[in-house]
Amino acid sequence: QAKRLGKDRLEIYTPELHERTMTRRRTENVLRNAIAEDRFIVHYQPIVDLADERVVGVEALVRLVDDHNNLVPPATFIEVAEESGLVVPMGNWVLHESCRAVVALRERTGLPLTLSVNIAARQVARADFAQAVLRTLAETGLPEESLTLELTESALLEADVATLDQLVQLRDRGVVVGLDDFGTGYSSLSYLRSFPVSHLKVDRSFVAGLGRERGTADGASGSDDLAIVRSVIRLAEDLGLRWIAEGVETAEQRDVLRSLGRGLGQGYLWSRPVPADDLLDLLLPASVS
Ligand code: C2E
Ligand code: MG
Ligand code: MG
Ligand code: MG
Repeated sequence: QAKRLGKDRLEIYTPELHERTMTRRRTENVLRNAIAEDRFIVHYQPIVDLADERVVGVEALVRLVDDHNNLVPPATFIEVAEESGLVVPMGNWVLHESCRAVVALRERTGLPLTLSVNIAARQVARADFAQAVLRTLAETGLPEESLTLELTESALLEADVATLDQLVQLRDRGVVVGLDDFGTGYSSLSYLRSFPVSHLKVDRSFVAGLGRERGTADGASGSDDLAIVRSVIRLAEDLGLRWIAEGVETAEQRDVLRSLGRGLGQGYLWSRPVPADDLLDLLLPASVS
């Protein structure tokens, strides 16, 4: 049946749409409870220098702990978190918790690890965003230069003048702004010049085809991916930006990336995202050698 929404909006109510609305509402409730009950945890994935494969930093990736103590991946709730605005309190918590954890890791290992945190459009659009970030850094003791805020192309495209101003303010204080999933959004190359971005993250969908030049099951050819990755790296290096290749799973992919330039890598080849304590095991042998 159809349901009237106001004068001229008519929404067709299908069972599928109803199901989706219910799922959304359920997810929103789960998120609300998770925030109230502290049911998020952060996992950390190492970022390595491709040249020597030493860990130089970590990316914070949030997970939700459900009623049965299962870890729920962000893919199932980030969209709802953004739409409902719940991504703001969640994101504040992730930022604070990950800064705290990385400061502890730096102290335990003696390594000057950097921290990358994903920031949603709704978060950065808040008038107090820059202030909140600087306050968290001051409270936890993480140096400004050791924090990278990862924004997506669409988040940057949505940003108004006041938002960009906050990013410039943060950059001037030393905080790094990186462009996540580069190449998957509505890439407008001109914003690389005008936005306060200092590194690019090559999306893992392009990295996947490296070392697989004969093409993939979905019809995408590995040599197309190689051309794209090579161009993105070239672009980054010519603009004086740092680059990180994400989703590196094989030694072949690592070797191809190494041959293309001087950058960083992240992916299952080195480690999946893990709890901070597990990272310690990975880092401690490195720090004593
Ligand atoms: P992202 O920022 O692009 O993070 C990289 C994603 O790729 C992570 O998925 C990571 O686990 C996965 N990954 C890393 N290496 C490999 C690999 O070698 N192979 C494959 N197949 N995957 C790899 P995850 O943790 O499920 O996060 C998904 C997305 O959720 C993130 O993508 C990010 O956009 C979002 N997200 C995660 N945490 C947060 C957060 O705290 N705040 C916000 N706003 N978004 C977050
Ligand atoms: Mg990211
Ligand atoms: Mg990414
Ligand atoms: Mg991604």
